[in-house]
Amino acid sequence: MMGIRFILMFANVVVPACWVLTGFSLWAGSLMFGIHMLTLWAIFWPSCRWWGDVTCEFKTDEPEVWLTIDDGPDGDNTRVVMDLLEERKAKATFFFVGAACRKYPGLPAEVKRRGHGLANHTENHRAYAFWCMGPRQISRELTACSASIEKLSGSNPDLFRAPAGFRNCFVHPVLARLGMKLVGWSARGFDGSRYDVEKIISRIEKRIRPGAIIVLHEGRVSDDGIPLICKTLPRVLDLLELQGLKAVIPKIS
Ligand SMILES: [Zn+2]
Repeated sequence: MMGIRFILMFANVVVPACWVLTGFSLWAGSLMFGIHMLTLWAIFWPSCRWWGDVTCEFKTDEPEVWLTIDDGPDGDNTRVVMDLLEERKAKATFFFVGAACRKYPGLPAEVKRRGHGLANHTENHRAYAFWCMGPRQISRELTACSASIEKLSGSNPDLFRAPAGFRNCFVHPVLARLGMKLVGWSARGFDGSRYDVEKIISRIEKRIRPGAIIVLHEGRVSDDGIPLICKTLPRVLDLLELQGLKAVIPKIS
């Protein structure tokens, strides 16, 4: 996959130059359009591995899944989420945003104490800007978030999820330098952009199986004032129970 990464990066420099040097020829313009489309695919398709590895499922012989919760912490709502998990003896990994950790400084340690996982979801969660950041800015987003989590919990996260899953060619070299792994998902209901609980659950249900990585989001509130995750999480836990699946935190190697 490293090969594809370098070919795409190289083509993004050479092909536009060819287009100019050939007097804006049609063939070079078409080639440039194709290269740009492939590059956009690699950036915006969360499970695409052209830039480097992304864990979208985990290997297991047991009836178990990995529940991941993005965009927190969200104050007392995160505590309600942990209460819901504990009622069903489920464990989850929280992909926290650094700035939100500083807003709710007690939560990273509480998540750890209650036996859940902590992971990095950037310092500022700039979903519409992260994918076009340069290596220095990406590095700052990751290191600042990890520093906040470590300072507030004592744990240095080794897992990272890009905001909305969008990332460019500079992310993997930064992850390699920091000794971190990129985590995606295999079951999402688009609860970060829709509010229809039935649609969210029906989409996740179709994708639940042993080794699945399920993603839910904190921080969204339904029209009736109830946090969306307080409606979706119990339904996901019901589905898991129905299918005899346990929510665990796997070792990702
Ligand atoms: Zn997010």
